[in-house]
Amino acid sequence: MRKVGVAVAAALIAATAACAPAPAHPAAPVAGTSTTATTTTTPPTAVPGPGGTTVPVFQHPYRYGTAQANAPAGEDGLLPVVRRIRTDKPYVFITIDDGAVRHPAALELMRSANVRPSLFLNTKHVQEDPAYFKAFQDEAGAGVHAHTASHPNLQGRPYDFQRREICGNADYLEAQVGKRPKLFRPPFGNYDHATRKAATDCGFTALVMWTAAVNDGVVQFQAGGKLNAGDIVLMHFRRTFVEDFVAFLERCKQDGLIPVPLEDHLAVTRP
Ligand SMILES: [Zn+2]
Repeated sequence: MRKVGVAVAAALIAATAACAPAPAHPAAPVAGTSTTATTTTTPPTAVPGPGGTTVPVFQHPYRYGTAQANAPAGEDGLLPVVRRIRTDKPYVFITIDDGAVRHPAALELMRSANVRPSLFLNTKHVQEDPAYFKAFQDEAGAGVHAHTASHPNLQGRPYDFQRREICGNADYLEAQVGKRPKLFRPPFGNYDHATRKAATDCGFTALVMWTAAVNDGVVQFQAGGKLNAGDIVLMHFRRTFVEDFVAFLERCKQDGLIPVPLEDHLAVTRP
């Protein structure tokens, strides 16, 4: 785990050093990066953000919304459980859960960074202000996905209970944002066979877990000291949204990764 200040400083250095990740040791200048002339056609690598922050900006490496890979096959007629994405590209995936705190700067941040997160939302939070959450889909291109109606621990609960929580949430989100959620994440990451059965019966493509998380402005890794290609990162709609999201973006720059839409890498397949 890194201190926020260190991560921020390192990422700011990365952000100001053209678009390449910060080298691990001093290296010879790369041709083309040491010229004094700045062309007006070069997209910015960072822009001013809310609260005096600097927001790293990412260019889309392909046309978003086009399938890049199918979801892995499920087994025993159940949907697959996905913990990371297999990819040979420098891609990483950001997911944002629950919806408990509606931070006013969240939409602007996503748009500024040019990043499209996947949101796993609970009915009980979305119904407080459906328009707030729909705007992420309509104005930032975010994917809206299911996380149960009331955020219970599903593990060990009867199938009917789980089905109500999961399908009910999907029905509600579809009615609110106009699209059927394709991905499901169980609250607390806890699930059992009945969860997978219910999620399969409700029509989901994959049950999505995570391999790294952001808390209090710090990116935490399950293994190793950096983000790796294919990592699925978890954060939440909290009061610390700006610190958390910027910490994630900075970490991506530092580790030479590009956040791309999870949906594009979990295209529909049948279990
Ligand atoms: Zn949750």
